[in-house]
Amino acid sequence: MSYSAPLGVGSRRTTARVSGLKHHCSRLPVDIIEEIISWLPPASLGRWASVDSHFRRRVLGSDGLWERVLQLVSGLPDRPSEIKRPIDYARLVFGTWCFQCKRARAGVAAYELQLRLCDSCRKGLDRVLPMHSGLIPYFWHHGKRLVTTAAYTALKACLQTEDQASLMKFRAAQEKRTSEVMEHARRLYSWEREQTALRRSEQDRLRTVKLQTAIDLLKAEGYGDFVPCFQ
Ligand SMILES: [Zn+2]
Repeated sequence: MSYSAPLGVGSRRTTARVSGLKHHCSRLPVDIIEEIISWLPPASLGRWASVDSHFRRRVLGSDGLWERVLQLVSGLPDRPSEIKRPIDYARLVFGTWCFQCKRARAGVAAYELQLRLCDSCRKGLDRVLPMHSGLIPYFWHHGKRLVTTAAYTALKACLQTEDQASLMKFRAAQEKRTSEVMEHARRLYSWEREQTALRRSEQDRLRTVKLQTAIDLLKAEGYGDFVPCFQ
């Protein structure tokens, strides 16, 4: 992946946050900031990358920093070996940009393709023929097996060889890679579902705590007879 945008910035609210970060950056030593931001969740770290070009080089350019940040994400499947840089894995999992047209806050994960794509770019994907489905990782969408045109063209070109030994070797390697990438994608989708469930559970817990706090306040203020209305 060569996509170089931050994980997800651009909204007015985020711009205000970045201004605040710039202010703090001018007052704190860089080493201290680096130590602190290595404990941030990946999406928050992406905001720091927007502070200025110096920070962008230090933050986006530090594989070690991104590696540490990703290791702290509970349950996240390990970065696959073919995604060379940890920041690219962070962009895939936590980014919000379309990797192809670079539209902000539009990219939805297609983990099988190791891409995030907006609706429009997703419509530009090619449909895989059943005879090739075990040879290339595909994104399953509305009953279709989809891949990028570039990846599919490259696959079909490699399959043109007339050297049967090379062809057999190539097909075996593709089948192995396809199986590994699809399995990793399944684990990522599963991890995402777990994260969503955890967030909902936490929201429910907080709502219950806040309601109980409000009820306790009512009672303390002498409005206990209203409590049954809220239970
Ligand atoms: Zn797009």
